[in-house]
Amino acid sequence: MAVKRIRKADEKTENHVKCPNCGSIYFKTTKEYVAKEMAHPGMIEMLEPWKSWGWENGFQDRTGGIGDLFCPGCGSLLAPDGKLTIQKKVVK
Ligand SMILES: [Zn+2]
Repeated sequence: MAVKRIRKADEKTENHVKCPNCGSIYFKTTKEYVAKEMAHPGMIEMLEPWKSWGWENGFQDRTGGIGDLFCPGCGSLLAPDGKLTIQKKVVK
């Protein structure tokens, strides 16, 4: 009997923000994230364990623009054209 994995309606996903340069993921989106709008620091939140390590200290100016959204790994802008690169992640 073939068992097909059915995606449950209540399955929760998080939008992880991928660095377009090195592919690293240090952030997820917040409730402020709107795909059509220009990215800004309020749209992202640092993931663990980096958040606990205090790496988000440079990302707390919520009034900034796309120039303040950069990858802690390689220093590249996360949204060079104003759009974040999103990778869906299922969370339990
Ligand atoms: Zn990077």
